[in-house]
Amino acid sequence: MTIVTADLKEAFKKAPIKGMMDNVMEQFNSAADQINLHPNIRKILSITNNEIIVNFPVKMDNGDVEIFTGYRVQHNNALGPYKGGLRYHPTVDIDAARALAMWMTWKTSLAGLPYGGGKGGIKLDPTRYSKGELERITRRFTFALADNIGPEHDIPAPDVNTNSQTMAWIADTYMSTRPPAERTANQHVVTGKPDGIGGLEGRDRATGYGVYLSIKFWAEKNNKSLEGTKFIVQGFGNVGYWAAHFLEKDGAKLVAVQDAFGSVQNQEGINVEDLFKYSQINDGSFGGFPNAKPVDKNKFFTLDCDICIPAALGNQITIENAPQIKASLIAEGANGPTNVEGEKVLLERGITIIPDILCNSGGVVGSYFEWLQNRNGELWQLDEVMVKLHKKMKESFDKVYDYSKKEDVDMRTAAFCIAIERIEKAYIQRGIFP
Ligand code: GLU
Repeated sequence: MTIVTADLKEAFKKAPIKGMMDNVMEQFNSAADQINLHPNIRKILSITNNEIIVNFPVKMDNGDVEIFTGYRVQHNNALGPYKGGLRYHPTVDIDAARALAMWMTWKTSLAGLPYGGGKGGIKLDPTRYSKGELERITRRFTFALADNIGPEHDIPAPDVNTNSQTMAWIADTYMSTRPPAERTANQHVVTGKPDGIGGLEGRDRATGYGVYLSIKFWAEKNNKSLEGTKFIVQGFGNVGYWAAHFLEKDGAKLVAVQDAFGSVQNQEGINVEDLFKYSQINDGSFGGFPNAKPVDKNKFFTLDCDICIPAALGNQITIENAPQIKASLIAEGANGPTNVEGEKVLLERGITIIPDILCNSGGVVGSYFEWLQNRNGELWQLDEVMVKLHKKMKESFDKVYDYSKKEDVDMRTAAFCIAIERIEKAYIQRGIFP
């Protein structure tokens, strides 16, 4: 076993460093081979439909003007309007937006939603800007995107470093630039809004709750209890925090956490709410948290635990750390956290991966509920939302799990196969215009 891993490591060292786009394409092509995807449909799904890049000026607090670059990539809309988040991060570029848009196409298809996939964002470090500047950047970006987004065309949502406030600014800007009689009818141009202005009760916890449910379903299938199970979380934002919150309620123990500010561990357990409150009053940082010790950030994934939840950025689990990972389950809260080489090592070592397009799909399912609610002029209660989310996650999980057992493939391949087959069927039924 170890010998093969070492061989793989050597082989991959010689290969060029790959980006997220290479990962998603390799994942797609291997699933397409598995299901013998029609070659014409493979061609269509291998490229993005539209790629929008906008450069726009924004007035800074000191009176200077700064130029920003924003992206929106619309990968595929065979099943419905493009859907996916907007992230604000220095790593945002066209390649990242393409890869993330593709993952959204598979995610919405797998979840059985009437959506396609899109993704975008702005290349910036949001910690460098004031709230007022971020508001003006967001509004000007929305104005620049103009009719490239729309409630029945392309519906953005929160992602890394964007939140309900960001969505409120987008919704307000978009609605304000419509003719008066159309304004309120456009509220569903974005999802993930605050619950006072058409947002869904529980949308904040939807992704993290879905991550938790995926872990719970996996434990149930394998006759394991979550009581006393040790888990580590990378990223303590919306996804990581809520996943940890629900896992702790079931008796699991958070033993280490990492985010952009640092990494801490305590094998006796870290109280999730205490850590959350501490980081809230310390500008998001764990530094100095009294009940845990700092750990070397490069050792984080190799810490002792049963479950590892990467809930931050892509390409975190690679050939460099995969051979030392102790967890027996990886639950992907982030998009693309495990690269293809890292995954090969994990699978070879018998580690299960609940793939991103299943594991973190609670977020987009919550978005779909919000969109329906706005479209139909309804307001749903939190308990109703949680029940519906549970039902959707269970259906998707069972589909993927059963497929992986039946076809003897890993869960990512299973999830991709189901997602791609649904899109293939839509193309076969519709045909290609003209
Ligand atoms: N950004 C989230 C994701 O990657 C949510 C997307 C959405 O709700 O449209 O799944």
